[in-house]
Amino acid sequence: MATILDGKMIRDQILAELTPRVAALAAIGAAPELAVVLIGNNPASEVYVRNKIAACEKVGIRSRKLTPAATVTTEELLAIIGQLNADPAVNGILVQLPLPPQVDSGLVLDAIAPEKDVDGFHPVNSGKLLAGAPGLRPCTPSGVMELLRRYEIPIAGRRAVVVGRSDIVGKPMAILLLAANATVTICHSRTFNLAEECERADILVAAIGRAEMLGEEHIARGAVVIDVGMNRVDGRLTGDVEPEAMARLSSAYTPVPGGVGPLTIAMLMSNTVQAAEGRHK
Ligand code: NDP
Repeated sequence: MATILDGKMIRDQILAELTPRVAALAAIGAAPELAVVLIGNNPASEVYVRNKIAACEKVGIRSRKLTPAATVTTEELLAIIGQLNADPAVNGILVQLPLPPQVDSGLVLDAIAPEKDVDGFHPVNSGKLLAGAPGLRPCTPSGVMELLRRYEIPIAGRRAVVVGRSDIVGKPMAILLLAANATVTICHSRTFNLAEECERADILVAAIGRAEMLGEEHIARGAVVIDVGMNRVDGRLTGDVEPEAMARLSSAYTPVPGGVGPLTIAMLMSNTVQAAEGRHK
């Protein structure tokens, strides 16, 4: 029987561990605060932001929501980021993606002060990740690492295959697994024989964004399967891996929902606390 890797349980553990750290910061007048910038009225973004603010409330992190109009310009957003960068009360700045088409997302994200970049997307933080230096890590892949660590799943020396090479998930995931001494393969849409690559994996991470694209031909018996995918199909949330194949062949897997999703928010909280502690030091 495969172990179901319970992201909600690990999220709750992480949040419970953060609560006293937040209280300790508050006690010395350095309470962490997360500023969330939400533009337009994309229903999915609104749900994500609501969940992030709810998690802040759970651990005692103060939150501030800014909602510029959907017609906002790059310059106006840069001015908002500039104010948040300069505000000593704010430790974390999160700009909810996607941004409207008229906005230059790259410019906006790069304008966030690296020490307040709790999403871990700034080039300074990507560089630190690559160099193995301390810094703010992207939340989804660092959540996966936390899950593997807490379930005591060995990584060193094992073959890890990451399907997907986005800057947000796939690439940082591969780098974190490499840093943990896995032997890492990165697959993408131009990979010749995806099933052949995947079925060699001891740890298979799917971060593709295509509903149930990976099936039994991609999963080695006994592999650990991490399904990062979040796809809406007929209103239902599905992952990138067929749940039945995952349950039957793997030794452990993350369900969708209830696997990786909750960890992303937990790591956002963790980054915000880390940023606040870093500033205080
Ligand atoms: P992107 O669209 O940015 O990247 C998808 C990657 O998958 C690309 O590298 C692409 O390859 C690769 N890919 C696409 N089609 C294929 C294929 N047929 N065969 C092999 N590789 C393929 O997505 P993200 O990385 O942002 O997100 C991936 C998934 O994770 C999505 O479902 C997203 O919703 C989910 N997600 C979940 C989070 C969570 O908290 N659980 C957080 C963030 C994302 P190429 O580079 O060649 O185009």
